[in-house]
Amino acid sequence: MLGPVILAASRSDQMRRFVSAAPGTKQVVARFIAGETVDQVVPIITDAADKGLEVTLDVVGEDITTPEQAAAARDAYLELVERLKDLGLGTKAEMSIKLSMFGQALEGGHELALANVRPVVRAAAAIGTTVTLDAEDHTTLDSMFAIHEELRKDFPQTGCVIQSYLFRTEDDARRLAAAGSRVRIVKGAYKEPAEVAYQDKAEIDKAYVRIMRILMEGAGYPMIGSHDPRLISIAQELGRRAGRKLDEYEFQMLYGIRSDEHLRLAAEGHRMRVYTAYGTDWYGYFMRRLAEKPANLLFFARSILTK
Ligand code: FAD
Repeated sequence: MLGPVILAASRSDQMRRFVSAAPGTKQVVARFIAGETVDQVVPIITDAADKGLEVTLDVVGEDITTPEQAAAARDAYLELVERLKDLGLGTKAEMSIKLSMFGQALEGGHELALANVRPVVRAAAAIGTTVTLDAEDHTTLDSMFAIHEELRKDFPQTGCVIQSYLFRTEDDARRLAAAGSRVRIVKGAYKEPAEVAYQDKAEIDKAYVRIMRILMEGAGYPMIGSHDPRLISIAQELGRRAGRKLDEYEFQMLYGIRSDEHLRLAAEGHRMRVYTAYGTDWYGYFMRRLAEKPANLLFFARSILTK
């Protein structure tokens, strides 16, 4: 019950100010956010690589209000590409992008987001890595998929994300499960209405399994984004049945969540990618992590009260 309340709070400026200023916040945020600057995140990338893990990097931020902020977001990713070039990790260090941060919600936002994201995707391709477009709330998805399709004409390795809580997603998965595509399946992290999304956890999980089957049996490259142990073992079984080798799909988990499991799957020979978020505008990302697990909220409340 707490999840939807926290997700509603994630859109509130008043809550943003309160949470950002609260004593103790920084320490809890640090569990999910790898750092504030690219300099702080570079050692985390190399440490992950030393442990046999791969990463996808997310510069946090989404509720921008001006084209200048969208351009700044693009530049932050271009700065990141420069650093990734020096590390020379290829696709072992790729990037995840939220198009809202690139201007999608502004006037003329579809074209603006496409214009801002294209140079980042081009720069990524030039250093031998990839970009994945995150899935945000359902009202943004037609635009995200259209931008994804457009980018794939020149950069076919560009990935995208689909969410099992949405009724539309099985159709999207069938369309996307084609040769050369890279698709991350997740449960979905936004507050969505009953007209478009399953509300019941068991229904969301069942849909997740149906969608994984479509992706595993298809010709694309499935990226299984979940910490759910049941879904992870079903993914392994579906991969086996579809005749996929261990490097013909990958697991993805979030930085700071079930870190032992990252290492266990990598040690079993799986490709394991850690979604590593960094930056100063962490509020929306952080609140979604609290909404996913009420125990996080208790931990957060305790750390504020004891400061
Ligand atoms: P759950 O049933 O929520 O969790 C299973 C178990 O994992 C829990 O019991 C708990 O032990 C652990 N766990 C899960 N979440 C947390 C947490 N926050 N803190 C502590 N423990 C936790 N959503 C989108 O809408 N769009 C995206 O583009 C997107 N990208 C993602 C990329 C990756 C790599 C991952 C892993 C998730 C992404 N998500 C995205 C979030 C996703 O939609 C879910 O909200 C989130 O992954 C929780 O679902 P779960 O599959 O882990 O299962």
